[in-house]
Amino acid sequence: MTAQALYAHLPSVDLILNHQSQQALINQYGKEHITALVRQLLDQARDSIKQQQQLPLWLSLNECDGLALTQQKQQRIALFSEQLAQVAQPLGSKGQRRVFNLTGTILHTNLGRALQAEAAIKAVTNVMRFPSTLEYSLQQGKRGHRDHAISEQLQQLIGCEDACLVNNNAAAVLLMLASLANGKEVIVSRGELVEIGGSFRIPDVMRQAGCQLVEVGATNRTHLKDYQQAINENTALLMKVHTSNYMIQGFTSAVSEAELCALGRSMQVPVISDLGSGSLIDLAQYGLPSEPMPQKMLQDGIDLVSFSGDKLLGGPQAGIIAGKSELIDMLQHHPLKRALRCDKMTLAALEATLNLYRHPERLPCDLPTLSMLTRSLDALTDLGKHLVPYCQQLVGQHFTVSMMPSMGQIGSGALPTEQLESVALCFSVNNNQTSHTLNDLADLLASGEIPIIGRIHHNRLWLCLRGISHEQDFIAQLAQLSLTHKE
Ligand SMILES: *Cc1c(COP(=O)(O)O)cnc(C)c1O
Repeated sequence: MTAQALYAHLPSVDLILNHQSQQALINQYGKEHITALVRQLLDQARDSIKQQQQLPLWLSLNECDGLALTQQKQQRIALFSEQLAQVAQPLGSKGQRRVFNLTGTILHTNLGRALQAEAAIKAVTNVMRFPSTLEYSLQQGKRGHRDHAISEQLQQLIGCEDACLVNNNAAAVLLMLASLANGKEVIVSRGELVEIGGSFRIPDVMRQAGCQLVEVGATNRTHLKDYQQAINENTALLMKVHTSNYMIQGFTSAVSEAELCALGRSMQVPVISDLGSGSLIDLAQYGLPSEPMPQKMLQDGIDLVSFSGDKLLGGPQAGIIAGKSELIDMLQHHPLKRALRCDKMTLAALEATLNLYRHPERLPCDLPTLSMLTRSLDALTDLGKHLVPYCQQLVGQHFTVSMMPSMGQIGSGALPTEQLESVALCFSVNNNQTSHTLNDLADLLASGEIPIIGRIHHNRLWLCLRGISHEQDFIAQLAQLSLTHKE
């Protein structure tokens, strides 16, 4: 066929859009977007004719002999619809989707960290739906402060004088440094110049806050006299940073908060601490390794301590700064605070989460993060036994599914070297029975409506059960998947 004749085989934009099968796509993605996609596909087809004198493969009819041109056009419109559905599809799967986090890392930054407590979810939907007293004091009948309620809660819970809430802990560190040490020096131990995943590095944050970092000590050892000797009239702060994602072992020495605070007091230099995760309760009571507690820091005399809302605290993404009123006041009045402040949904979720801490005995039940961390191995084993047959049914003779002890971790920089005992569903390839690989299996598990995310390690695929919730949904999801035959 000549190019001219081929062009005549292309349906018009209107014909394609008016075809009945397009209505569902238009309902889902909007008319403007689908129209743009149709134009793109038509351009593709024209390019193919121009450059290769043929229609693109997806628009070719198997049998067109004996078909009238109008019939051929009808069939081509149908092919267009199929192609359109395919290219429109990935759109629906972009963005955030619910997944099962069976990676073994409970607070997984890439998978959204802490799951919210039901009380927090309720509180958030309430302020989303209705006006609220975000910055309004009912008692005084006038403007209030958005951080006030949570500051009062924290005063009771951890014994601070006041608190300031911002977008996340990185923002908290930036705001503390910019408000209290701009143009001045901040002393930090060389053993604590951490980099958190992404691009949060203490030296870079210092620069952004306009501070001069003064490193003291060595990577493995820093002594009180190192800080002492570095203090001069330009020193604005002494800073401790929790080495949350690594641990220095061997011949080591660090200065405790209490010692540093005594030095700070005697030299009249405030001491601040970036705690990272922090925990408002002593995790040792659940047999978990302890993580430093902000209330202990405040007792030791720290002037300001900062920590995340969505790490061990188990709430929404937020940065919490707690400590002396005089310093919190300076933070609240710094121009950056407005840019870094929390929105009403975050504050509502945080307030509801902190309320749960009034009943510490109920926390393992009410707070999803703690509930996952404290699940017993017996409970996980029972769950595993229940789930093995569903998994085996999915993978048939291609893989063997077994239940194995495994090691998880809390994640998000909490307790870096401590491992969390767990139980996993473990898939190994039956090499003589299949050409499927572990990567095929991982793709399959991730391909459903609710993707299941595991981890490939030592030639096996592991689904760590400590992170599972809504087991019925999990079983239903497994049932929807199927391992197609592959040669
Ligand atoms: C996690 C962490 C941060 C960053 O906190 P975000 O809430 O993720 O911004 C900063 N410092 C330390 C020590 C951390 O562990």
